[in-house]
Amino acid sequence: MKRVGPREDEARARDGADPLPTLRGEFHVPPGKRYPEVAYFAGNSLGLQPRATRAALLTELDDWARLGVAGHFEATHPWLPYHEQLRAPAARLVGARPEETVAMNSLTVNLHLMMASFYRPAGDRTRILIEDNAFPSDSYAVRSQAAFHGLDPDQAVVRVPAAAIVDYLARYGDQVALVLLGGVNYLTGEVLDIPGITAAGHAAGCRVGWDLAHAVGNIPLRLHDWGVDFAVWCSYKYLNAGPGAVAGCFVHSRHLTDATLPRLAGWWGSDPATRFLMRPVAEPVSTADAWQVSNPPILAMAPVRVSLEMFDQVGMGGAAGQERAADRVPRLVADRAACDHPGRSGPARLPALGAGRRRRRGGPRAARGGRRHRGRARAGHHPVGAGTGHQVVIGADGANSAVRQAVPTFQHRQDHLDYGYRELTIPPVAGDFALDPGALHIWPRGTSMMIALPNPDRSFTATLFWPHRDFAAITDPAAHFREHYPDAYALMPDLTTEYARNPVGSLVTVYCWPWAHQGRVALLGDAAHAILPFYGQGANCAFEDCVELDRCLAETGDAWPEALEAYQWRRKENTDAIAEMALENFVEMRDKVGSRAFLWRKRIEHALERALPGRYMTRYELVSFTTVPYAQIRRRNRVRADQLPRVD
Ligand SMILES: Cc1cc2nc3c(=O)[nH]c(=O)nc-3n(C[C@H](O)[C@H](O)[C@H](O)COP(=O)(O)OP(=O)(O)OC[C@H]3O[C@@H](n4cnc5c(N)ncnc54)[C@H](O)[C@@H]3O)c2cc1C
Repeated sequence: MKRVGPREDEARARDGADPLPTLRGEFHVPPGKRYPEVAYFAGNSLGLQPRATRAALLTELDDWARLGVAGHFEATHPWLPYHEQLRAPAARLVGARPEETVAMNSLTVNLHLMMASFYRPAGDRTRILIEDNAFPSDSYAVRSQAAFHGLDPDQAVVRVPAAAIVDYLARYGDQVALVLLGGVNYLTGEVLDIPGITAAGHAAGCRVGWDLAHAVGNIPLRLHDWGVDFAVWCSYKYLNAGPGAVAGCFVHSRHLTDATLPRLAGWWGSDPATRFLMRPVAEPVSTADAWQVSNPPILAMAPVRVSLEMFDQVGMGGAAGQERAADRVPRLVADRAACDHPGRSGPARLPALGAGRRRRRGGPRAARGGRRHRGRARAGHHPVGAGTGHQVVIGADGANSAVRQAVPTFQHRQDHLDYGYRELTIPPVAGDFALDPGALHIWPRGTSMMIALPNPDRSFTATLFWPHRDFAAITDPAAHFREHYPDAYALMPDLTTEYARNPVGSLVTVYCWPWAHQGRVALLGDAAHAILPFYGQGANCAFEDCVELDRCLAETGDAWPEALEAYQWRRKENTDAIAEMALENFVEMRDKVGSRAFLWRKRIEHALERALPGRYMTRYELVSFTTVPYAQIRRRNRVRADQLPRVD
């Protein structure tokens, strides 16, 4: 059989390098015939349903049932300004200012609204330029606009191959009123040069608009900086907001206060401050909202809100996030590395403790390391960090690290637990803790559980660790809590509101190696080794990274390449160890805390602790209350596991 794609290991590496799988567990993937899930390649047509969408819709329905018309002001997400809540995340997604974006209508309706303002044929300038394989709906829309203005669509609409657009504009641009193109062509997948074509159109005196149906959520966009006049997009493809979802629209800020621009008006485009004075003449706001005609369909907007929250969560990881990092990191690194290390193929391995010191004393490695340093010094280079323009990039940007994704040598994988987490509050009772603050509170419930940890303000944060399917299935949290967590339910007066408001986070373990690249880029904290939170050690791990890196710098005399190399080798086995123990602790908390055998084992451990003070500590205590390296604790624990009764 002919191989048509990458090998499995390559495919897995590519999957690992893609930040978007971070949220894979948060989507419903339809079941397959032979496999539990289909391989879904149709996101360019209709994106999958996020698990959070059902709850978001139910929240609106519940609020409607509960509040009636008062929901305009009192709903969980008040309906009157609902579209305003979508403005900033939509702007982040398309690289715009918040006032330049609005979620409304469907794509072609928005296209017509935009053309009502921006297609103003006059004199010889009457043409609309589209690509020769434009999406049919765009083609129909522009032809109808030409006819609407009394023009012959066959004459007014010009179809040009994408590659010839800039040339056409240079020659005939003075006859073109509007350039309207797809940012990513629906048929070929070709990404058009949006900034380049926009600039060429403007140079020819044309207005330039973009249909971003296949671009939004797919490629990085900077509509404001690129000076695009307007853009429209749908939300049901890569934005996963559901069939026929509410679409989006961008109008550049330079047009927002242009009173000469004609517009098809309706009451939701009128200033909300005076809207309900019911005056006969519209008072348009100076934001993209001015193009709104009717009030937004809240039930259809809720999935868009969920979608935009998810894109915010990954920081548009696969596209804008990568681009942001690509802008900053590799260029910086490549330039500087090329400049500072001509001919150097990569860092030497330096796994041993104290290697920096040994080098300075002499020995085979020391000779090489020492020569390199002396050579660089003679060549006029200075130590990194000495304020000479050298730079080191430390990627401490969390589990979805853009730095990690931007450096191809950082081979990584993200293991997702099919669980999400949601936080709730147990407030103080009569000014004091509602539960014993000295205990770890766990509610094991088979495949799911809840834990509660005390806060300085005497409240507890209760965290639900539930399978995603449970979050999706539970429609009445109050009833569920009354039945399954009755004691906690009694302590959570805001349960229903908080449950609806607080998002479901994902739980991921990041495995990455190496963490250092060419002595100039390194990962630290969750970026290198996010772990499950069941030992509460993630932040501590990141702090330990800092301590170790600092130590390595001191040992190597601030020689960054050597220090970074030593740092990663010293830390890796420890972070692997805590990642493994955190997963084990999750299974233990979830499945075993309720078992009698487990409780007996714990009693034996505590008895040993009392009998051998300072000489015997449980794994939990070693992890939580000492600085014994995690790898050592794992080794010790493996030995002990053979000595204590097993609990499976
Ligand atoms: C439910 C849960 C409970 C937890 N409980 C505990 C606990 O009890 N104890 C504990 O020690 N740990 C806990 N953790 C883990 C802990 O939160 C993390 O391990 C820790 O925050 C990691 O720190 P970090 O600095 O590496 O990353 P983060 O805290 O994620 O910080 C990364 C920072 O980088 C920023 N950033 C990201 N991308 C970019 C970009 N492209 N440009 C600029 N900035 C960017 C982010 O905004 C953020 O401020 C828990 C985690 C979870 C999910």
